[in-house]
Amino acid sequence: MATLEEKLEGIICPTCGHENTYVVREIAKTLRVGQDTVTVRVVAGVCSFCGEEALDDTATTLIDDAMQALRQRDLTHLTRVGEAFVYS
Ligand SMILES: [Zn+2]
Repeated sequence: MATLEEKLEGIICPTCGHENTYVVREIAKTLRVGQDTVTVRVVAGVCSFCGEEALDDTATTLIDDAMQALRQRDLTHLTRVGEAFVYS
């Protein structure tokens, strides 16, 4: 199976049209479920020109799992950090 680096080599960014600009980075994705959010760190390809992110199956699965855990309040892999407020 090709590594993420190999998959990203020479591809053209669908957003900015530049070629071979993707680099592999660990990024923090914050996902919203209703009023709640969960942040998950995934390894993704990021266009070094425009910031477009390319997620592979591993990253997509992690994101789905994190949202599912939040929906079901399954605290096995969730850590509560801080509180959210709305100022008006
Ligand atoms: Zn781009």
